[in-house]
Amino acid sequence: MKKYDFIIAGGGMAGLSLAYYLTQSPLGNHSILILDREQKDRNDRTWCFWERGTGPFESILFKTWQTVHFHGTTYTGPLELGEYRYKMLRGIDFYSFVLAELAKYPNVERQQATINRIKDTPQGGFVIANDEPYIADYVFDSTYSLNLDQPDNHNLLQHFKGWVIQTEKPCFNPSLPEIMDFRVEQHGDCRFMYVLPFDEKTALVEFTLFNDKLLTMEEYETDLRQYIDRFVDTGTYEIRETEYGVIPMSDVATQENPSEHIVRIGTSGGYTKASTGYTFQRTQRYLHDIVHNLVETGKPTRRTPWFQKRFKLYDSVFLNVLEKHRHPADDVFTRVYVENPRRVFTFLDEDTRLTDELRLFTTMPWWPFTAAFFDVIRRKMFG
Ligand SMILES: Cc1cc2nc3c(=O)[nH]c(=O)nc-3n(C[C@H](O)[C@H](O)[C@H](O)COP(=O)(O)OP(=O)(O)OC[C@H]3O[C@@H](n4cnc5c(N)ncnc54)[C@H](O)[C@@H]3O)c2cc1C
Repeated sequence: MKKYDFIIAGGGMAGLSLAYYLTQSPLGNHSILILDREQKDRNDRTWCFWERGTGPFESILFKTWQTVHFHGTTYTGPLELGEYRYKMLRGIDFYSFVLAELAKYPNVERQQATINRIKDTPQGGFVIANDEPYIADYVFDSTYSLNLDQPDNHNLLQHFKGWVIQTEKPCFNPSLPEIMDFRVEQHGDCRFMYVLPFDEKTALVEFTLFNDKLLTMEEYETDLRQYIDRFVDTGTYEIRETEYGVIPMSDVATQENPSEHIVRIGTSGGYTKASTGYTFQRTQRYLHDIVHNLVETGKPTRRTPWFQKRFKLYDSVFLNVLEKHRHPADDVFTRVYVENPRRVFTFLDEDTRLTDELRLFTTMPWWPFTAAFFDVIRRKMFG
């Protein structure tokens, strides 16, 4: 059996990003096998994220915005991003670009196969896919399903259904995406619309919820239809594409390094920010660290400095406020975004200093967050 340097189990966003970074690094000639059950030739999702400066996928971005719009409880208007840009990358553009780049490397193999098993052995990480065995020094696994069924944790879901609509009348401002529009019935939850305009007559309109109960397709569609009818002067419109997704918003403990030769990456590795569901940009950052460590030390292990772990506590407190309905979510988000312009993006990137974080906390309703903080501590200490 051929032994690879690296097997990438799951060639989706994280797996393909990792393969791309490896080929761009001094490890570019190492043998890599990418296993995925899909061809990755469909536009199965769209990623949005904020970023300072230019990133590795700048040339294939679908849209970039300097300003975003917010519709909250006490404020409606633009939010300046400062040095950040809000960026949109279509799945198909990402897959096509990365796969074309990887095709230039004879040392990178791809196989379309279903992975049945991944386990560690003294010889390396071992994978069975379509009943064939494969082995490598390291297996990077993005196929592992997180076990969210743990009662002491907060396990919310970010779930959404979106339509790309083409309208009869020009009704969107292409330079102003709506990142959160709370003018939808909240039903005691956190529910909002997200509108990403491609041009004056085309936009992705997405109904998004943060809670623990998925809706039926008809329920998402009813809210989408009502929102468009009430707030967008479309004339007639046609639905060109649909998107549906569920992202874990959970503070369950994840194991990025479950054993010596296996590293979990992407959602499987716990790279999703628990309080927002944003995963794309964190994955890029963490994979950079993994490749850097491989180059420098021969080992991929990423360590989070202990003081940085405070952000996990903040995420848990935030999830607790949402899960326990301690304060209306539309008001919490209005305070987060409106009273903390720019700082909020740095905070969500976990790049702020403690003084900035304390300033941000003073803009939150103090009692619900204090109660949530003590509840989180109680759960962590006593279960
Ligand atoms: C519709 C949607 C929209 C999203 N939008 C955003 C966004 O705007 N911004 C953001 O930051 N995050 C977003 N996310 C969250 C996150 O960025 C994506 O889910 C991202 O694709 C996660 O990357 P990943 O590599 O962990 O998983 P994936 O990209 O899903 O890759 C996992 C791969 O493993 C393969 N696989 C799984 N099991 C097996 C198996 N047994 N055998 C073989 N192959 C297997 C799958 O085919 C897949 O290609 C979105 C998620 C969804 C679902």
